[in-house]
Amino acid sequence: MSRLPIQIKLSDSKKEKPDPQTLVFGRNFTDHMFIADYDEGKGWHSPRIVPYAPVTLDPASIVLHYGQTVFEGLKAYKSEDGTVRLFRPEENMKRMNLSLDRLCMPRIDEEQALHALTQLIQIEKDWIPTLPGTSLYIRPFVIANEAFLGVAPAKKYQFYIILCPVGSYYKEGIHPIKILVENEFVRAVKGGTGGAKTAGNYASGLKAQEAADKKGYSQVLWLDGVERKYVEEVGSMNIFFKINGEVITPAINGSILEGITRKSILQLLRHWNIPVQERKLSMDEIRGAYENGQLEEVFGTGTAAVISPVGELNWDGYKMIVNDNKTGPLSKKLFETLSNIQNGNEKDSFAWIL
Ligand code: PMP
Repeated sequence: MSRLPIQIKLSDSKKEKPDPQTLVFGRNFTDHMFIADYDEGKGWHSPRIVPYAPVTLDPASIVLHYGQTVFEGLKAYKSEDGTVRLFRPEENMKRMNLSLDRLCMPRIDEEQALHALTQLIQIEKDWIPTLPGTSLYIRPFVIANEAFLGVAPAKKYQFYIILCPVGSYYKEGIHPIKILVENEFVRAVKGGTGGAKTAGNYASGLKAQEAADKKGYSQVLWLDGVERKYVEEVGSMNIFFKINGEVITPAINGSILEGITRKSILQLLRHWNIPVQERKLSMDEIRGAYENGQLEEVFGTGTAAVISPVGELNWDGYKMIVNDNKTGPLSKKLFETLSNIQNGNEKDSFAWIL
């Protein structure tokens, strides 16, 4: 397929860039954004980079009523020599197509989307912060913007990419978080939309997240929606358990989002010859391992924090303190290796950087 040329309209004025020391996630956006339109019968068309601005939507737009929308999240880093580094962006485009399929939305051309992304980043490269741990967060998303109140797949869509500089997740160094195992609410069930990155999954998780917040826990650990026995994932991270020398993470089953960090961690562990299993893992098994002194480390993985060591797991009031509430050696090694590959301080042996 020939590549559609991207029209570029640059902004007349430039915003003041925020102080990289005090960046807050998701609050400051760059000067430009990418947009493409989709119309049934015509396909994707009119790709363009334009000044960042509010969007106009008909109040009857399908996305506003029935949530027909998907999104992605990835980061660009600047290495010490000023080179821009994108971490596995082709994986995000691939996952976006899986999400689009699940929501009956038209697929994007992954190569064209990557081309649009790199052009946009090129224009906005001065927005990539360079302090250790900082990066430019990239949010591609597709919305159904047809004005129609019927419950049916839309005939019109828009694809956007917006960018925001983000601060270091760990300003005082990597440290463990507290997780609450969620017993009342569920995030997703087999056959539902849990495997897709779509708005509804996040809206439905807010209630549990809010309750956990009030109790002083940073995120919830979701259990399977049927038996409420098996571990699925954390708010916006996949989860790994090191039990008696072996690393276990829940297998991808349709209700878990397949994280790109998860995939990279699995590759690293296998490369280091550390035994790893992707399988069902029950809370009973975790509690058993904890009581036998075999629960060595627990960590979440995701684009935002890369690795989040878990220091406390609260299951219905039963508190499991992992590794004395300290960052374990494997979590630390994984965090350092992945962060260094991302920011260019370590060789990209797996060809993860574009
Ligand atoms: N699970 C959920 C529900 C998420 O929102 C995320 C963040 N995208 C992840 C897992 C981790 O995915 P990734 O490693 O691709 O950021």
